[in-house]
Amino acid sequence: MKKVILKKGKERPLQFHHPWVFSGAINRAEEITNGEIVEVFDSSNQFLGKGFYNSKSQITVRILEWDRDTEISEDWWRARIINAIKSREHIKNTDSIRLVYSEGDFIPGLIIDKYSEYLIVQILSLGIEMNKEMIIKIFVDLIHPKGVYERVDEKIKELEGLSGISQIAFGEIPEEIVINENGNKFSVNIKDGQKTGFYLDQRENREYVKRYSEGRKVLDCFSFTGGFSVYALKFGAESVSLVDSSEESLKIAMKNFELNGVSNKEIKTLHCDAFQELRKFRDRGEKFDMIILDPPKLAPSKYQKEKALRAYKDINILGMKLLNPGGILFTFSCSGAVTGDDLLRVLEYAAIDSGKTIQVIQKLSQSSDHPILISCPETEYLKGFVARVI
Ligand code: SAH
Repeated sequence: MKKVILKKGKERPLQFHHPWVFSGAINRAEEITNGEIVEVFDSSNQFLGKGFYNSKSQITVRILEWDRDTEISEDWWRARIINAIKSREHIKNTDSIRLVYSEGDFIPGLIIDKYSEYLIVQILSLGIEMNKEMIIKIFVDLIHPKGVYERVDEKIKELEGLSGISQIAFGEIPEEIVINENGNKFSVNIKDGQKTGFYLDQRENREYVKRYSEGRKVLDCFSFTGGFSVYALKFGAESVSLVDSSEESLKIAMKNFELNGVSNKEIKTLHCDAFQELRKFRDRGEKFDMIILDPPKLAPSKYQKEKALRAYKDINILGMKLLNPGGILFTFSCSGAVTGDDLLRVLEYAAIDSGKTIQVIQKLSQSSDHPILISCPETEYLKGFVARVI
């Protein structure tokens, strides 16, 4: 197997099992074909791990295995995949789940979501792309899906030098899939849905929304297809207003209300920019009893963090101002660069600027089918708080 030798002092993260080797950490590498599996050594020739090599990526090696004697064979892949699937056995009452979450499941570069009887594969590295047939075959054997869709994100394609396209890799994929989560139905469009069509990472947080919904006038900001609103209406919300800049998402939200028998309730959908709409609500003096703020990733990298924190503060100030006394704020950040502590500071300053007092009553994270690998903090991206605003 070909060798990659690190610069002196660059072995620490790997010793702690962080699975990424950045290009700048490499001292020497033999002639290696991109996508090949290599062995990584520190500067004093101690073995660290082995994984996929790709000189086109900033993350030049993604470690798959820390044990030198363990061969990365088809059986190895099958075992890792079975482990990932088994570790989700505690998740009940849903036919839709993230089966593999990349580094979080010790398979860097691979994300697999199950939507009812269909699988969506996201390929995030060249090594995975080169082994995709084998990986998909293992899933077809284990899960017997009706179809597998392969999704390639254009940005990742560029960053990693991938050549694949989004396409059906096995069986058939219908235009619309209706999934069932805790007895709630959601229409999911896999082929052109945003991300993977439905936010599985918010599943467990939807359960929290349901707890506070009874009798409340709800504002669901950045609603997408209304996941939170469906739960709110089914659990007694007096009304919901959805704000999203995607008209298509709001149309699917209306379909979701019909699918769940709540379309007769008081529902407003507002196709507009949430940052502006929150100001309009404030200027009109409109009030709510519960507000959900789930914006898109405002800090795509650490370089946008400061600007993103100002934007998070902006919407949280407005959210707090729009709440009646005792109102409940659900606030999220899905930016990897923004930590839970950062978001808490945002809330602290937003409370001061809005002249409110807040009690944080719950800390939220991504659902448990998106496990966080402690040695790889990048696997934790979704942070949220439930706060009572006084
Ligand atoms: N809360 C949703 C997921 C939100 S994803 C759920 O649980 O399913 C972020 C959403 O924000 C997307 O639907 C996107 O269309 C919307 N969005 C992005 N920028 C926006 C803006 N400036 N104003 C309103 N919506 C926006």
